[in-house]
Amino acid sequence: MIKKKVIDQIRVTPGKKVNLKDFGTSWASLPELKDFGKEEVKQKAAELLEENREELSKAQELLWASDIHSVLVVLQAMDAAGKDGIIKHVMSGLNPQGCEVQSFKQPTAEELDHNFLWRYMCRTPERGRIGIFNRSYYEDVLVVKVHPEMLDKAKLPPGKRGDGFWEKRYEDINAFEHHLVRNGTLVLKFFLHISKDEQKKRFLERLENPDKHWKFSAADMAERGFWNEYAKAFEDALSATSTKWAPWYVIPADHKWVARTLISDILVTSIKSLDLEFPTVSAEKNAALVEAKRQLDQEES
Ligand code: ATP
Ligand code: MG
Repeated sequence: MIKKKVIDQIRVTPGKKVNLKDFGTSWASLPELKDFGKEEVKQKAAELLEENREELSKAQELLWASDIHSVLVVLQAMDAAGKDGIIKHVMSGLNPQGCEVQSFKQPTAEELDHNFLWRYMCRTPERGRIGIFNRSYYEDVLVVKVHPEMLDKAKLPPGKRGDGFWEKRYEDINAFEHHLVRNGTLVLKFFLHISKDEQKKRFLERLENPDKHWKFSAADMAERGFWNEYAKAFEDALSATSTKWAPWYVIPADHKWVARTLISDILVTSIKSLDLEFPTVSAEKNAALVEAKRQLDQEES
């Protein structure tokens, strides 16, 4: 397990105004690690990720068997920050039956005909399951805040886009998450924090390697032009919506191995903190098990 002190540093304190410059994008920004060499940390991170995969798989089984809680993992990031890699590498040991990934793109006409939280609400995980939101309702205070003309399509009642519009959306999000938590969902939110230089490096890799061309999108390049606006929108959203019941973690994501290990660690620790137990078998069911065993033993082979 990663030390609590490290995790505390990357958890956004509720009510605190976030300045992303205070959170590093590199593993070396974590004070606990900077005395070690990069190769040493990388090696240790890989071992820990492997251990956590097993732990997560056990935690998932317990989550499924106890059938009371669910886990919602929210992934938000700038383009090329590694959301897909997190899903692939952190979740790889999970039983697909108890895990679902929901990816959110631009809302459809039907979705725009509802309130902005509707499409997300419909896709929250059932009890016993882990649901991953690859992008989420936070897009409605991120991309939409950076490009407010998108609201023109939302058919909001006249006058509803005035003062305090975004603050009210943050309030709605906090209330929505509180509702989920009160009904048994553990809500964990990760912002994969990469530097602008690292994004450039990853875009160039996609352009230079024919096997990665499919990953490149001209739209991502256009959004890079709004880097500062996105950073500001993230700072505002993280400041307003990191709550006691649904905290944000700012994950240094310039090195994939550190991001993956941190997230797997937080997931395992958080699910374990639910103190789940396998359901106990009632006396009646126990008697049925004994009887079934007796009948099977008596069967002629
Ligand atoms: P990939 O790794 O495949 O590129 P992605 O999550 O970037 O995954 P895309 O299809 O490239 O998927 O992009 C989805 C787009 O949909 C993003 O630009 C995102 O900002 C946009 N989007 C998501 N939710 C909303 C929303 N509520 N309103 C407007 N745009 C949204
Ligand atoms: Mg994309």
